[in-house]
Amino acid sequence: MSSEPLTIVVVGAGPGGTVMVDRLSANAPTGRELEIHVVDPYPPGGGRTWRREQSELMWMNSRASEVSLFTDESVQIEGPIRPGPAIYEWATEHGHDITPATFPPRYVQHAYLSWCFDHIVASAPPAVQVHVHQATAEALTETNGRQLVWLRDRSEPLDADAVLLVQGFLDVAPAGVHQELAEFADAHGLVYLPPHYAADADLDVIPAGEPVILRGMGLGFVDTMVLLAQGRGGRFEPRAGGGYVYHPSGREPIMYAGSRRGIPYQAKITYSEQGAPLPAPRYLVADATAELHERRGPLDLHRDLWPLIAKELGHFYYHELFMAHPQRVTLPWAEFLERYDPLDWETDERIALAEEAVPKTEDRLDLTRLLSPLEGLSFGDAEDLQRWLRSYITANVERHADPAYSPDLALYNGMLVMLGLILDTVNRGRLSARSQAEDLMQWFQSVFSYYASGPPPQRLLELEALSRAGIVRFLGAGLTVEADPRAGLFRASSPQVTGSIDASALVESRLPSASVARTRDPLLSELYGSGSVTEEVLTGPDGAVYPLGRLRVENGRLVNGSGRPHPRRFALGHWVGRGFAIAGFARPRTNAMPFRIADNLARDILREIS
Ligand SMILES: Cc1cc2nc3c(=O)[nH]c(=O)nc-3n(C[C@H](O)[C@H](O)[C@H](O)COP(=O)(O)OP(=O)(O)OC[C@H]3O[C@@H](n4cnc5c(N)ncnc54)[C@H](O)[C@@H]3O)c2cc1C
Repeated sequence: MSSEPLTIVVVGAGPGGTVMVDRLSANAPTGRELEIHVVDPYPPGGGRTWRREQSELMWMNSRASEVSLFTDESVQIEGPIRPGPAIYEWATEHGHDITPATFPPRYVQHAYLSWCFDHIVASAPPAVQVHVHQATAEALTETNGRQLVWLRDRSEPLDADAVLLVQGFLDVAPAGVHQELAEFADAHGLVYLPPHYAADADLDVIPAGEPVILRGMGLGFVDTMVLLAQGRGGRFEPRAGGGYVYHPSGREPIMYAGSRRGIPYQAKITYSEQGAPLPAPRYLVADATAELHERRGPLDLHRDLWPLIAKELGHFYYHELFMAHPQRVTLPWAEFLERYDPLDWETDERIALAEEAVPKTEDRLDLTRLLSPLEGLSFGDAEDLQRWLRSYITANVERHADPAYSPDLALYNGMLVMLGLILDTVNRGRLSARSQAEDLMQWFQSVFSYYASGPPPQRLLELEALSRAGIVRFLGAGLTVEADPRAGLFRASSPQVTGSIDASALVESRLPSASVARTRDPLLSELYGSGSVTEEVLTGPDGAVYPLGRLRVENGRLVNGSGRPHPRRFALGHWVGRGFAIAGFARPRTNAMPFRIADNLARDILREIS
């Protein structure tokens, strides 16, 4: 062994940090010792999101078949493949009752991730040492090119060749309207929770039996709903004919739930059979976007790309319908496609073709209705809305469990493909700065999450039962919430229903958006305050500036306030800018992107410091 060991500090020991420990040790140079210091106040593997100490009622939103921390033979990387079990394979060996289709409780995911961390450390080459520091990193300084990481309550820093931040999801101080609502709540003795992590919130401040407004109906809403109902002692009992009956404990509040769309996210599809593999994309292809870009200049996701995306989704959907369910169509696929090719999505001719070829309405793809089911409806009476939503939820769960509707699965897979192709358009510099910052980060992400990132179906059936029990009340689409200073209360209303609801508690039931400038993490705040890191910003041709809130990186290296990348400071994860933002778990045997990014970055770091 030559000279001093190489030393790397990894800040954050959640799943992302754990994968990086695997990739760093798998790629460790021979003939040199490598010391990896892992820093996290939570136990390594699960980290904060997947810690053991949280309600056992919290579940994953992924099925056990969709989660692995180990590279497999499908992953195309330069570094060595280090196979290991996906969670369902591990669970079987460790006595957990989990099949590939189960949505595992978070405490089981915690056990899996802890095991993964230990296994990765134990199977590292002898020249690799991993040291765990259960602490918060508070500052990062530099002396003679050495990176010094200062930990809370420790007087000596960790001294390293390089530092890698894998900090995942961070807390953010409220600003703008959230700040105003917090001040209003303080002034009037009300309860207000700005965007937050449901599992970390103190929900005891929400009084039993009284109305609470929940704004947001995605995954954070589902967690809050579970904690405020079952978490307070209520019980679900299977109901004859399907679904559940809810038996309240009497300690629940009345949850008034609404959002822009007014609808919970779509149930996860629970079958996996699909007729044919997805065909190759035909409309949203590099040549088409290049041609559009040449004609129109920087493209707009709504105006320029959405017509192609919608048509492509239709292509994926109908391909599956024609291949897997030919008895439900009247034309051969080749003829349908030939006639579909020249038509724009939003045209009477395209709709007429679908009607001619696909007799049943339920078999046709109506993207407007699918993505905004409440649009254009109005309900004279709030009870009508409750009934409508209950039958909508039941129908959605039934449909997403029924392989007869496998075109829905093709649509789901197609959405993943679309996301990749849109990012490709971004990487080729074809999407306008405004559209990247607003349409992509807000609108399309929301469409994607709504359709492709929904809760386990059981959670929706529980929601339906809570509605029947009067514990959840739906507010409708286009939700607005005002602070009424005269009444000293929050007031929620929707244009779809007459009347409004007053409440002394308002919960923003969703995660905060990334904001390096406003994070409560001491390390990033300090680095941002000193100009050592900065936010990723897009600038339009007119000079308009669109901050994205995430850490700016170049080739994975932190960029400082003067635009210079630091050669020995790296970052990866949900809050990190383009190319290094990883938000979810890698799926086994899919050549998953998170592994490819992690392996490349690990090799790059090691090259830099060797
Ligand atoms: C509530 C919730 C549910 C989710 N459910 C799913 C799901 O079902 N399926 C899915 O694919 N994805 C899910 N995700 C996304 C999920 O976060 C990722 O899959 C995964 O947890 C990301 O791993 P990570 O290590 O990058 O970030 P995190 O899991 O956030 O881990 C980051 C770690 O960094 C540590 N850290 C941060 N700052 C410091 C500091 N200054 N000093 C020391 N340590 C620090 C934190 O304590 C934390 O442990 C969910 C996310 C959340 C928030």
